[in-house]
Amino acid sequence: MTTTLLQPGEIEAAAGDIPELRLPPADIFLARAQRLEQLAEGHTLGDYLRFVARLARTQQESLDAGPSAALPSAERLAQCRDYQMPPLAPAGLGLPTGWHDTARRLARGVRAALPAVGQTALGSILAGEDAWLDAQAMQLLDGNIQDIDAAAAPVIGAALQVHWTHLAHQIEPGHVAQPEHPNLCPVCGSHPVSSVVRIGGAKNGLRYLHCALCSSEWHVVRAKCSNCDNSKGIAYYHLEGDDNVVRAESCPACQTYLKVIHQDKNPMADPVADDLATLTLDLLMDETGFTRSGINWYLIHGPA
Ligand SMILES: [Zn+2]
Ligand SMILES: [Zn+2]
Repeated sequence: MTTTLLQPGEIEAAAGDIPELRLPPADIFLARAQRLEQLAEGHTLGDYLRFVARLARTQQESLDAGPSAALPSAERLAQCRDYQMPPLAPAGLGLPTGWHDTARRLARGVRAALPAVGQTALGSILAGEDAWLDAQAMQLLDGNIQDIDAAAAPVIGAALQVHWTHLAHQIEPGHVAQPEHPNLCPVCGSHPVSSVVRIGGAKNGLRYLHCALCSSEWHVVRAKCSNCDNSKGIAYYHLEGDDNVVRAESCPACQTYLKVIHQDKNPMADPVADDLATLTLDLLMDETGFTRSGINWYLIHGPA
């Protein structure tokens, strides 16, 4: 366990020189799959991480195939920018045409890798009505997981990620306003999974929050709580004996934490994959009395 303290902005370049937004690269799901496969080696959750790796590879195939996704009109984009609204918010866009096909394609892609019980669970996606899929997707997007089909949720979430990542990849950074709330994605308004300290070029050493839905990343200074803006008493936790790639940034004001994934410690580190591989750190934080503020759609649980 560690408690290094940093002041906000201590290691940041002067404001104005900073790339505030990182839109998703074209090979994002492939890189994620490769990192998951690497993390799965000798891991107690190896089978689970390999399953998610397979899901991510199938996401990449769907993304490469160019899923249907129409950007909002130029007029709408300008309006969103002027009013500081995220242009790809699901409430404004609705569910993309063809997303049911993406969900079924992903389910078929991962089914063979699952034991019999898991294969049965995916039947609800393959055989389910479009209306049922839409209802599940809307609940996931609303963060209302009480009535969600827990076995189907990771695949449904993965399908939505494909469409929104495809949209975010096409948007012009100039169409995206600085967010009013630094805890929500400026592109689509969703919550972050975790945050990541990036390496290379102008972003070197900067911390970005990674969107759970559209895979965009936005800059938030280090040593500052993204959930409530507090910067006093921020403390860091990590698991003893690990390589320090993942730390939990905890806030005493709102009692939440968000993980910081250090690409500067491992260039392959990924804000989603490394989050899943450090569930033990979440257990530690829970015991310490902190609530997680990040959402990982590969790991949405319904009621026990
Ligand atoms: Zn987003
Ligand atoms: Zn806070």
